[in-house]
Amino acid sequence: HPDSSAPPEFTGFVRVRGAREHNLKNVDLDIPRDALVVFTGVSGSGKSSLAFGTLYAEAQRRYLESVSPYARRLFHQMAVPEVDTIDGLPPAVALQQQRGTPTTRSSVGSVTTLSNLVRMLYSRAGHYPPGQGIVYAEGFSPNTPEGACPTCHGLGRVYEVTERTMVPDDALTIRERAIAAWPQAWGGQNQRDILVTLGFDVDRPWRELPRQDRDWILFTDEQPVVPVYPGYSPEETKRALRRKEPPNYMGTFTGVKRHVLHTFANTHSPLMKKRALQFMLSSECPLCHGKRLRPESLAVTFAGVDIADFSRMPLQRVAALLLPYAEGHSTGNKQQDAAHPEQAVVAQRIAADLVARLAVLLDLGLGYLALERSTPTLSPGELQRLRLATQLYSNLFGVVYVLDEPSAGLHPADTEALLAALADLKRAGNSLFVVEHDLDVIRQADWLVDVGPAAGEKGGEVLYSGPPAGLAQVEASQTRRHLFDHNALPTSQLRTPTGWLRLHDVRRNNLHGLDVAFPLGVFTTVTGVSGSGKSSLVSQVLVELVAAHLGHELPAEEEEGDPLERSAPRATGGHIGSGMAAIKRLVRVDQKPIGRTPRSNMATYTGLFDHVRKLFAATPEARRRRYDAGRFSFNVAKGRCETCQGEGFVMVELLFLPSVYSPCPTCHGARYNAKTLEIKYHNKSVAEVLGLTVDDAWAFFADEPVVQRALTVLREVGLGYLRLGQPATELSGGEAQRIKLATELQRAQRGNSLYILDEPTTGLHPSDVEKLLAQLDGLVEAGNTVIVVEHDMRVVAGSDWVLDIGPGAGEEGGRVVAAGPPAEVAQAADSRTAPYLARFLA
Ligand code: ADP
Ligand code: ADP
Ligand code: ZN
Ligand code: ZN
Repeated sequence: HPDSSAPPEFTGFVRVRGAREHNLKNVDLDIPRDALVVFTGVSGSGKSSLAFGTLYAEAQRRYLESVSPYARRLFHQMAVPEVDTIDGLPPAVALQQQRGTPTTRSSVGSVTTLSNLVRMLYSRAGHYPPGQGIVYAEGFSPNTPEGACPTCHGLGRVYEVTERTMVPDDALTIRERAIAAWPQAWGGQNQRDILVTLGFDVDRPWRELPRQDRDWILFTDEQPVVPVYPGYSPEETKRALRRKEPPNYMGTFTGVKRHVLHTFANTHSPLMKKRALQFMLSSECPLCHGKRLRPESLAVTFAGVDIADFSRMPLQRVAALLLPYAEGHSTGNKQQDAAHPEQAVVAQRIAADLVARLAVLLDLGLGYLALERSTPTLSPGELQRLRLATQLYSNLFGVVYVLDEPSAGLHPADTEALLAALADLKRAGNSLFVVEHDLDVIRQADWLVDVGPAAGEKGGEVLYSGPPAGLAQVEASQTRRHLFDHNALPTSQLRTPTGWLRLHDVRRNNLHGLDVAFPLGVFTTVTGVSGSGKSSLVSQVLVELVAAHLGHELPAEEEEGDPLERSAPRATGGHIGSGMAAIKRLVRVDQKPIGRTPRSNMATYTGLFDHVRKLFAATPEARRRRYDAGRFSFNVAKGRCETCQGEGFVMVELLFLPSVYSPCPTCHGARYNAKTLEIKYHNKSVAEVLGLTVDDAWAFFADEPVVQRALTVLREVGLGYLRLGQPATELSGGEAQRIKLATELQRAQRGNSLYILDEPTTGLHPSDVEKLLAQLDGLVEAGNTVIVVEHDMRVVAGSDWVLDIGPGAGEEGGRVVAAGPPAEVAQAADSRTAPYLARFLA
């Protein structure tokens, strides 16, 4: 290796010895503190295992040892990392992109803690109607009893449960599940059996039951406890009651409405909440009109607006509104200032603090967000930048910030602001460990750690650790080529559109009556700064309109987030003018997980496993024992391990600590019972086959063309390193996206499909980007249309058509700034994309 001894400016080092987390190969590493250290390498090489799985996990473990067991439970604890020693490690804060969905209900204001200040401002410096007493800061939060609107309890909407919502089909009998709102499975049967005991007729159509009975069943608040005889007919039950036969158990009846409301208010499961919501009618709260606060709180204004309207303004407007107060020369409140000089002082202090904090958010390109915007509607990149901004003004020092691809979702213009923010954190005396693929960020590093050479078992080594320039000497590095060779991606011949898909009068979020034309039969990129309206246009309106036109069910989005957030109606508009004749199918390839439980994995998702199971069932021994393909599924009782029900691990509940998973004591992770494992195909059991990487499986199934074809595609999208049975929950968003793409690619190519992808290069190393582009190119060549929202200018430069949305974010965006081939858009005067794009077209 070249001499990579530290230049004098580094004051201290973190020393890692023997790191073996996931695929890391007993890695030793010294990296400087008080510096911007960037971890690079192809996807799956082990960057995150090093930065998050080892360094951050160890810092967190040490911290947690110092806190009480009670406090420990509140953390999402990471596993203890596999590493011998780490010296010189400061406390760490992780700003990781959320892979799952956030479960807690929070907003831009609460994540950034700005809402606390704003409430203080209203409480102490607001304008009160004559005669009204002061409202304390809590009184401005809809989540407190002091602040919540008494009619809707701070929800902004009121919910009504009616006979129609609970019993959608009144021709059914209770036994036939007329009461749709009852819990499914056992819970519903239990309620029915109780009604039998109580003497209600469960075999007559609902609508023929007396009104009095119906009302009692639905609306009563009584909760009688009665003997239950499950499995008895009504006659038998009557007899049993007369004879005082001992019941199976005593059951408690709950009125259906009460059950729905109770579930809705108390469940922690978004799915259950959503189910409860089905049986409720919602409408805007008549008292607060959706503003969620009690009237006294809404009567207090600042600069003429109540706090609810204040929270709905883009941060940019909030900053502009507060500036005169912060600088002490507001003219609005002259009269009041004269009467209450102390209020003017308080207003100035709080406003100045808010303006300073808002400046950081505006610098990070987030000025288009509003305080009340709920976090589940933000992109992971936006959320990470919000957290980053919060750190920037929390004035910590001596901390390591560990970040996961902070440039995700950022236009190159926004990336410059991000780099400035990171430099501020460093200047304040902090260390930054950043996992990143963006070459502009990598070039700014003080120190590079390049992990590789390839993914999975073929990675896990540190190829280089030192100042960026030194990487130029490291031949094995795939990052080297992209960092030092300035060639753009090979640009193919520009293709000519075969037609146009025209949308008219598009309305959504910041799009107000837009007309847009997407070319068909080519590869289009949609660009623009973060918040300009790309996703609103492409991932929302375009997808919805085309899906509706084709009569597709929209892929389920509903399992995510808090159903309350989506129950409010959204303004939507637009229609398709022409072009649909050429589109037969819509395919969205996003980064959402391919499954939420370890029961789904790549092999099941792609359909590959169906073939594999058939191969096992066709072996002579399986046929002799009459094992069918189902026997080889870990989701089916006959073949799986009974101890862990095919999970491969069992959950161990610990007192005071989060429960942990440990390998199943019976099957040791194999997931199948011993009998099933006795069946071998080419000397491997089904569990061993699930343990193969895609690359190894490709060789193993050499004489099975159908299986091999599926595996070939997975290798082509760069997933050769993944294990067939790797649980969905361990896959990154980028991996999930490529699995979806591969599944799509192995289907017969018919052409006439519209493919929509939102930032497909997120999480991808430049080498992986090349592979992805080759696949997309193949789709277009086969007669399909590909539309991609994208920030990577190399990708944009290689596309056939660019649609630039902007010029700014939020209300300063939402228009088509330029549209045309890349070379043309690169010349557009108003476009913030043009200068960055031009660099790649030289
Ligand atoms: P990168 O950050 O470079 O994309 P990762 O560190 O996420 O790579 O992954 C390195 C290897 O470890 C990959 O083979 C990946 O599939 C594997 N891996 C990642 N997370 C887990 C996990 N929770 N359990 C087992 N293997 C994992
Ligand atoms: P981009 O994809 O270009 O980053 P978006 O389409 O996500 O931009 O956002 C455009 C505008 O719409 C922004 O002002 C954003 O805050 C707003 N917006 C996006 N999604 C929502 C939502 N679910 N609720 C309210 N406003 C939204
Ligand atoms: Zn209300
Ligand atoms: Zn088991």
